[in-house]
Amino acid sequence: MPPKNRKVAVMGYRSVGKSSLCIQFVDGQFVDSYDPTIENTFTKKLKVRGQEYGLELVDTAGQDEYSIFPAQYSMDIHGYVLVYSITSEKSFEVAQVIYDKILDMMGKVTVPVVLVGNKNDLHMERVVSTDQARKVADTWKAVFLETSAKQHEAVNDIFTRVILEIEKADGNSVRD
Ligand code: GDP
Ligand code: MG
Repeated sequence: MPPKNRKVAVMGYRSVGKSSLCIQFVDGQFVDSYDPTIENTFTKKLKVRGQEYGLELVDTAGQDEYSIFPAQYSMDIHGYVLVYSITSEKSFEVAQVIYDKILDMMGKVTVPVVLVGNKNDLHMERVVSTDQARKVADTWKAVFLETSAKQHEAVNDIFTRVILEIEKADGNSVRD
């Protein structure tokens, strides 16, 4: 089978670790001070269930609750990774606002989404509970993961899972 090219936008409030997750996934390293204003596209090949994928990751510069949803994040995007930090209630709220905007924009009831609670290494600073976030993801019928870009925890899972969600939405049978 030829590789399938899939494009995924990584969105969320600023400073939640969007770039760190992308760089950890693509380069296998944790970069401590990455320019927050940079908007970058990363590519990586990966194999999921025997199928080769060329994954294009759009690492966005970050949104807040007032951001107008940029049209370029809806066109030819196959799936979304919505990142918040478990240490920021605000970032969790922003993720939900972005989700609503994505649905409005796409005019669909469901969209392939992985909700990611990052900075899972900062236990002492946690303010968003796992249960609370899982409930929200359940109502979206989305995948939910807690990750640490810093400790390389569950980072690769994000991208495998988003590909599986995209395949499901395409009507291709994949088992969970
Ligand atoms: P972005 O604005 O969402 O792209 O966030 P960045 O990737 O630039 O990260 C913002 C800050 O959070 C940086 O100082 C990162 O080093 C830090 N950071 C990112 N991910 C983690 C993580 O998993 N754990 C911890 N402790 N810090 C993180
Ligand atoms: Mg960034």
